[in-house]
Amino acid sequence: MSENKQIQNAIVIGAGIGGLAAACALRKQGIDVQVYEKAKQLLPVGAGLTLFPNGLNTLEAITPGIVKTLIHAGSPINQVNLQKSSGEMVFQQPQKLLEKYGQPMLNIRWSRLQEILASFLPADIIHLNHRCMDFKQHKNSVQVEFANEKTLQTDLLIGCDGINSVVRKTLVKDGLPSYAGRLSWRAVIKFKDEQLPPNEAFTIISNMGKMFSIFDVGGGYIFWSAAMLSEDDSLSPTQEVKSRVLKEFSGWTEPVEAIIQATPAEKIVERPICDRLPLQSWSRGRVTLLGDAAHPMISTLGQGANTAFEDGWELANFLSHSDNLETALTKYDESRIERTQIIQARSAFIANRYYDDSEFRNKVMQQREMNESEFEDWLYQYNPHVFTSKK
Ligand SMILES: Cc1cc2nc3c(=O)[nH]c(=O)nc-3n(C[C@H](O)[C@H](O)[C@H](O)COP(=O)(O)OP(=O)(O)OC[C@H]3O[C@@H](n4cnc5c(N)ncnc54)[C@H](O)[C@@H]3O)c2cc1C
Repeated sequence: MSENKQIQNAIVIGAGIGGLAAACALRKQGIDVQVYEKAKQLLPVGAGLTLFPNGLNTLEAITPGIVKTLIHAGSPINQVNLQKSSGEMVFQQPQKLLEKYGQPMLNIRWSRLQEILASFLPADIIHLNHRCMDFKQHKNSVQVEFANEKTLQTDLLIGCDGINSVVRKTLVKDGLPSYAGRLSWRAVIKFKDEQLPPNEAFTIISNMGKMFSIFDVGGGYIFWSAAMLSEDDSLSPTQEVKSRVLKEFSGWTEPVEAIIQATPAEKIVERPICDRLPLQSWSRGRVTLLGDAAHPMISTLGQGANTAFEDGWELANFLSHSDNLETALTKYDESRIERTQIIQARSAFIANRYYDDSEFRNKVMQQREMNESEFEDWLYQYNPHVFTSKK
């Protein structure tokens, strides 16, 4: 049972990987949590993810034993390869994260990760087909409103509803995400090719700002992801998506073209890459944000989900070990905003992202001063420490 008497129950909006991990962390602290998801079914979203030591150590703290299951379901990466679109190899780098930070670089299908996280929760706390529309704060509760006209009361509302968060819209009112100047395409398919040894990741680049990445995600599947600079963020008509990717990446070293050809057109997801400027505060009253709803970032460092796990761990622990809700949420904001801003800034810096906001632009520029190895130590040595009472 949570020590914080003001919080006995919570509602999580969104059964993405951030919401599910947060629900596991809250239950571990004795908080009665219910998860509401707008989708009618948890379907594969055609994506793969890379989990890093900070994310894996956090998941292990939340649900001991989970990393073994994830490694079995995914593919620990032993080598990363960088190639030019002509086929020329730029480098082949053995992956040393396991030796340095105690956990591997692990690639996994997004849907397997979601299934595994959901398997650690009672099925009856995940409510599908519940689209959150709005909320109203009262002194001792929050009233959450859904599209099916259902309303529910809770002690705490946690918006884990992604980059287009409805909870953030009401809480912060900061408008739509901003386009980062890149279009992306991605898919997960079964694919085998002798040029793609197991447990390796490939990034192939051109000098025109295009990139094609191929990841072994385990079980005979690969995740491919392509991106290119584009001033125009408009999407192709559905029936033209595959031919567009084929055209943009035509003539690239194999197996790029073979992979696109082998991907059923309906499995290719086309998206503009977007982010938002960091917030000064994620919490007001009895409502807070987590994961992409709080800190959507460009995926150059692969840290969106990894940092969402950190958010969930810390939020649950601050809630459980603080005297009251206000203190818990203040500590959560103080602890998380600084760290995630640095990661947002570093991700933006790698992507050569330009911002009008001078405060954040300065933070992005400061990131040039931290070298890669210092940054990796700071990032991957994240310690999901055990909180003591009334911390
Ligand atoms: C191409 C690409 C590659 C990436 N690679 C990596 C990587 O390698 N490693 C990494 O850590 N991160 C990566 N990321 C980022 C990562 O996918 C996100 O950071 C992560 O999915 C965020 O999780 P989330 O739960 O906060 O949000 P989401 O995954 O967006 O989940 C939000 C959930 O909320 C639901 N929802 C939305 N609105 C409502 C509503 N109104 N009511 C109810 N439910 C709602 C949605 O249906 C969804 O299930 C990548 C992203 C992209 C685009």
